[in-house]
Amino acid sequence: MIARSHFSSPLLLAFVLATIMLGSVTALAQAVAPLNDPAIESRVSALLQQMTLEEKIGQLNQFSGGGPTGPTDPSTGRSNYKQMIAAGQIGSLVNLTGAKETNELQRIAMTRSRLKIPLLFALDVIHGYRTLFPVPLGLASTWNPELVEKAAAAAAREAAVEGVRWTLSPMVDIARDARWGRIVEGAGEDPFLGSLMAAAYVRGYQGARLDSPFSIAACAKHYVGYGAAEGGRDYNTTEIPERLLRDVYLPPFQAAVNAGAATLMSAFNAVNGVPASANSFTLDQILRREWGFRGFVVSDWTSVKEVIQHGIANDGATAARKALMAGVDMDMEGGLYLNELAAQVKSGKVPMEVVDEAVRRILRVKFALGLFERPYVEESAPKETLDPAHLELARTAAEQSFVLLKNDAGSSQAALLPLGPRVRTIALVGPLADSAGDMLGAWAAKGNPKDAITFRTALEDFASKRQMRLVYAKGTEIMGGSDAGIAPAVEVARGADLVLLALGENAGEMTAEAASRAFITLPGLQERLLEEIVATRKPVVLVIFSGRPLALTSVVNKVGAIVQAWHPGVQAGPALVRVLSGDANFSGRLTVSMPRSVGQLPLYYNYLNTGRPAGKVDLTRPHKSGEEKYVSRYIDEQNAPLFPFGYGLSYSSFEYSPITLSTTSLSARTLNSGSQTLRVTVEVKNVGSRDGVEVAQLYLRQRGTSVARPVRELKGFQRIALRAGESRRLEFTLGKKELAFWNIDMKEVVEPAAVTVWVGHDSQSGSHAEFTIPE
Ligand code: BGC
Repeated sequence: MIARSHFSSPLLLAFVLATIMLGSVTALAQAVAPLNDPAIESRVSALLQQMTLEEKIGQLNQFSGGGPTGPTDPSTGRSNYKQMIAAGQIGSLVNLTGAKETNELQRIAMTRSRLKIPLLFALDVIHGYRTLFPVPLGLASTWNPELVEKAAAAAAREAAVEGVRWTLSPMVDIARDARWGRIVEGAGEDPFLGSLMAAAYVRGYQGARLDSPFSIAACAKHYVGYGAAEGGRDYNTTEIPERLLRDVYLPPFQAAVNAGAATLMSAFNAVNGVPASANSFTLDQILRREWGFRGFVVSDWTSVKEVIQHGIANDGATAARKALMAGVDMDMEGGLYLNELAAQVKSGKVPMEVVDEAVRRILRVKFALGLFERPYVEESAPKETLDPAHLELARTAAEQSFVLLKNDAGSSQAALLPLGPRVRTIALVGPLADSAGDMLGAWAAKGNPKDAITFRTALEDFASKRQMRLVYAKGTEIMGGSDAGIAPAVEVARGADLVLLALGENAGEMTAEAASRAFITLPGLQERLLEEIVATRKPVVLVIFSGRPLALTSVVNKVGAIVQAWHPGVQAGPALVRVLSGDANFSGRLTVSMPRSVGQLPLYYNYLNTGRPAGKVDLTRPHKSGEEKYVSRYIDEQNAPLFPFGYGLSYSSFEYSPITLSTTSLSARTLNSGSQTLRVTVEVKNVGSRDGVEVAQLYLRQRGTSVARPVRELKGFQRIALRAGESRRLEFTLGKKELAFWNIDMKEVVEPAAVTVWVGHDSQSGSHAEFTIPE
């Protein structure tokens, strides 16, 4: 359907016509910076001039439009949506989907409201719309931003044709604590990788032009520091010194803004005592003044209202005022802007200019999306949904997201994986082996378990083609349950040549929002199931489906191989079968450190050294008398993770040459001016007998600087496919971007330093070289 626009004033119509005529001139500019387009600015100004205070405030509200039966479902607590939309009291709806459904409400906005401002429909399209990709932590484990961009673009297509033109994604919160359930929604613990992923999602969702019918506006969330929740407990407070905020938590947001993100979401947590949803330092000073962000900020779900609970407002009016004045433009679901702002403006407590600016930012995005020209979507069945190309991409993404943690020799004296010809009967055991819903992962948007191919289904297919026998037993439930299924599962294992054990977390209850865990081991009776299976002495491959890195210390030595599979999406089964059989190689790498125990948390590779590092102490055993005691360590646990950041095995092995540097001395002045860079060169060889993919990672450490720098920081990586025996010379460039940090004067500069560079397989290995940035 070609939508007709309805304009109430000849003046506005003239603006629109002028814009259409200027279309070809502005097209290029729009492709680059749609939020900075003079044509859009004039349209916004013209519209703003016609708006009453009530209509302006109307644009600042978002309500949830969807329980199971739509906007008036009892769960929404509202029955008067249509009147509110007609009265211009709603700017956006979240959770309402479907071409027919969105068109119906859009038609009210476009025909019955005075100014005919289109609604913007939003949804949490986090890792796919109907075609579910791996959860974001899995997508990050691909170390493949181009692939993530393609996945986001596929999700955008499927969502946009159903009227959803705004996704509440990407979540770019850095997370260093595996207890936090929402670690699954982001890219992990590293700001460099996190920034690349943030930008990739934004590019994928928003496409080359925001006004394409297949583009959707991105929303980088949760601004900011949400991932630093104390104790890993969701919504908990955060204390983040400014330097840490700037060095670690802010960069992915800045990367999203630089990539053109149209919106940001303010977080639930308080940052250093000031709620993120009423924090003018982060929302105004940093986001608007320093970064020049021109899109709008939506609160998180009722987070405007929650500033009362935080304790910085004693009533709704103050909460609304503080949030708006700090820079939150749209109130999600709370209704405080709707109910409180008009009186605040009339009494002079909130200047009209502040309201105008918030409205301007929201209208800017609506114009940029082309909603005024094309408010409706086609109602015929969209061919984008579960498009075969999307399914293929989902399978590739899943394959690349799997991290092979261990692959030892079994009784056959060869590594257990890939599955060899001597395996004739496979026992598939575990509560995640055939659980379609869990394969979709948390925040499954419009995902349908019927679309997901489970591990069991795909293995049955594989086994029948290879004349193998597959026997299956669930064994136990994911959480709780009785032990009645364990004995039958052990029987099944006894009759097999090899056991594939599918264990882990339930996506819905144990991962994502409000799903923090104090114990991050295998839940329920799963560890007992594992032990009893292991007691059969059959070779065991453990496949873990989870939304966080689990503490696997007690199981790691009991099984021959371990695959970290996350929650892999609709193509879970086929993707797993391809890597386990060797049809595809493993190439995923951890983007989070895997802890040995919960007592190590928070845990991250880019820590500061301390004055008493545990360097020389053997941490593989408890402290012995006579040994240096007064170092930074536990008396009952190692410092190092079980598997480090960047780690992941392959069926190939890779060797690195010593690295060479183009120079060993660079001046801080030329680095700061951007006129000098350093080249780091290394040769990587696939010394294995199979083709494979290596993720070559560059880390550096700076010493002698005005503030301490981490023991290692990721500053580059290259994901390269190498045939068996092939080698390739890789080159990395280090310049201001990689070497600058927030110094003692809180300036982002390159300082004189002694610098160590490593290039290698993960955050704990690699050959190294030194250079200096002299005084
Ligand atoms: C979550 C957000 C999400 C929003 C809308 C909130 O509870 O924190 O991440 O976008 O709900 O569903």
